[in-house]
Amino acid sequence: MTADVVTTIPEIRRRIEVCRRSGRRIGFVPTMGALHAGHGALIERAVADSDFVVVSIFVNPTQFDRKDDYERYARSFPEDVALCSAMRADLVFAPEASEMYPASLDTSVNVARVSEGLCGQFRPGHFQGVATVVAKLFHIVQPGRSYFGEKDAQQLAVIRRMVADLNMPIEIITVPTVREPDGLALSSRNRGLNPTERASAPALYRSLLAAKHLVENGCTDAGQIRQTAASILGEESIVRLEYLEIVEPDDMTPLDRITGPVRIAIAAWLGSTRLIDNVLCVPQVR
Ligand code: AMP
Repeated sequence: MTADVVTTIPEIRRRIEVCRRSGRRIGFVPTMGALHAGHGALIERAVADSDFVVVSIFVNPTQFDRKDDYERYARSFPEDVALCSAMRADLVFAPEASEMYPASLDTSVNVARVSEGLCGQFRPGHFQGVATVVAKLFHIVQPGRSYFGEKDAQQLAVIRRMVADLNMPIEIITVPTVREPDGLALSSRNRGLNPTERASAPALYRSLLAAKHLVENGCTDAGQIRQTAASILGEESIVRLEYLEIVEPDDMTPLDRITGPVRIAIAAWLGSTRLIDNVLCVPQVR
């Protein structure tokens, strides 16, 4: 069966109202399209948990800090709808930017602390754009549960914080990162890698695994861990490190000394493609 495609807010509101009246549990997967098996894992989980699954496909202009990045972002709408249908999603919500933003907004959602470091530091306004569009989508779709990938751990932390702070009646479900066999996290941005860049890209995950190994074997010095990870990344001359941070997993604040579970997060450039990845590490109790 093909998932229905809806492009306007009045029409999706009508469809959601019908679902709610019949007591169906709505699961929601927000995406920016160019779907891959990572998105597929979110949809699969939503289908397993819900009676009606909505996938949004919306390349949100307000979360791009560079116009050229927005314009170059991969788009593959017919294939995306085919994947949603194959995964048994019920409805694809694919609004134009003019539907979501008929006028410039005077209202926005800023999730302070957790948005500040890591990607927030290098992509000004990014998380404000994300939180605001997700809040709008939550109000439109009114899901009971919404599904997010661990791959974008800071985004997930921002959304969790927003939902808690603003009392949104939505359960946020985390789905583990889906990877290629060589460890590269699936990402719509991988489509921008040329063969040389693609061959070097697994170094991100390799460096994270080396860091995780140190943490799990009792190293508590974040500086030493960062150095080890950076030296592994340095073996691939075309990889340009943007940040490699060891952070507290809920509020994403950087740590110097490790005393409990941490997330190690990385962002790096390969040519004009920026990739991010992260791993959760739990030190063994000795
Ligand atoms: P995006 O379309 O990149 O905005 O991502 C939409 C959702 O898919 C977000 O919740 C992402 O965290 C999630 N996602 C992206 N890549 C992966 C992956 N490799 N594994 C699991 N989830 C992912």
